[in-house]
Formats: sequence, C-alpha cells, structure tokens
Amino acid sequence: MNFPVITQEEVKTVMDDMDKNKPPGPDGLTLGIIRELFFLDPAWCTELFNDCTRQGVFPDFWKIAKVLLIPKEGKDLSEVSAYRPICLLPTWGKVYDKIIAQRLLYELESKSKNATTKEEVDIKLKIPKSWIKKQLKMTMVQEWQARWMSSPNSRFLYGIFPEVNTKSCHGDFLINQILTTHGCFPVHQHRLFGKSPDCECGRDQGTVFHYVYGCQIYREVRQKYFPENFFQLGILELILNTRGKIGLKIIIQDVLTKS
Ligand SMILES: [Zn+2]
Repeated sequence: MNFPVITQEEVKTVMDDMDKNKPPGPDGLTLGIIRELFFLDPAWCTELFNDCTRQGVFPDFWKIAKVLLIPKEGKDLSEVSAYRPICLLPTWGKVYDKIIAQRLLYELESKSKNATTKEEVDIKLKIPKSWIKKQLKMTMVQEWQARWMSSPNSRFLYGIFPEVNTKSCHGDFLINQILTTHGCFPVHQHRLFGKSPDCECGRDQGTVFHYVYGCQIYREVRQKYFPENFFQLGILELILNTRGKIGLKIIIQDVLTKS
C-alpha cells in the first residue's frame, strides 16, 4: 500500500477534532501540552509520525495505558465486578491512531466510490459496495500482516497473535488482561505504580507466563482445566481450548482480586 506522507495540516486537523479535556496517559502529557509542542515545531512533530509510518512501528510506549478502576455505586467493593476499568492511553498514540484511522477511512471510501461509480462494473457485475469494501479491507489486513511480521520490534502480542485481524478477537475483560499484559500482573503494576513485581509465591516475578505455566498457587486449577500437554501449548491455544480458557479466567480473576 502506498502511504502518502502525513502533512502538518493533517496533524493539526486531527488534534483540533480531539477532546481537549481528556486526562493524559502514564506520561502525563495532555493534548494541550502536545499541541503546544506541535506549534513550537510542527515539522519535527509531523516527522515523528512519518517516521513511525516509514518504519511500520507503533511505539510500545504509546500503547501502555494507565488503568484506573472506578468503583460502581452500591456494589460490594470486594468483588471484581464492582469496578469499571478505564484505560488512559498516551496522547501521542491517540493522535497517531486517529491519523491512521482517517487515512484508512478515506482510502476505503474513495476506492469503493470509484469502483461503484464505474457503470460497467455496476451493470455487468452488479458488485455490491459492501463486497468491494470487504475486499479492500482484506487487502489492507494482508498489508498490515506483512508489516506486523516484518516489524523489528517483536512484541509480546506477536508471539500469541501472529495473525492480525480486524475483528476484536477477544472482547473478554479477563482474557484481555493476558493478551495485552496490561492490568493486573505484578510486573505491569510494578512498572506503573512501583508495586513489587514478584508473585506472592515468592518463586518468580509475576509475569503472565509465570501464572499460566509455573506458579504453584494455581497447580490445581491447571490440573483441573488445562489439557495434560498444556506446557507445550501457546497461550492462544489455551484460550481457544474451552476448558483451558475457563482455567485461565479463574487464574486471572484471582490475580486481579489480589492486585
Ligand atoms: Zn507464583
């Protein structure tokens, strides 16, 4: 896909459209601060985004959210379900995200418009607009896949999600804790809030892998729900295994309650 250079005007328009009163992500930079930076040196700021595009990189740091748990009114606060989690993402990432989203939308709309206004296409083939949109989307997913695989910063997510998909694959709060490694795991809480990164079993750091594969606290859960050869399976395979997924959720729920 040829991706034209992002312009200063484009960055400014995207920022103008964003809500200026949203709280900042973990880096503390509000939209107001980022706008000031932009007006100080619009060329540098725009180049930052173009550099990301050229390298096919979405910086990891821009994806780290600050998770706040907002208590729901009148609920038993010892229950996980009594909290509504909100994620505060770094503003830089949100701006870049919106630039890309606008580009994709524009690409989709202009291409499908061109395709459907050509009469011979309409008359001879009767291709519905929705079909064309779907094809374009698939092409884009393939392109995304190619970038994803060749991207130099191999991420944790790539290990379990080697295939990209436009659907949000697992809209499950507990499972998302694993997929994003955000949220409840001590290592992450350590990074964000300075809490101890260790698991309470005292044998290792509280990483996703420790809880899923190693921690003795969850040995019984593993025995009960995981297939016998679970240590040979990737996390995604465990999620796709019906009983495995139940086991994973029990583990995460427990880690979450203790965090
Ligand atoms: Zn442990």
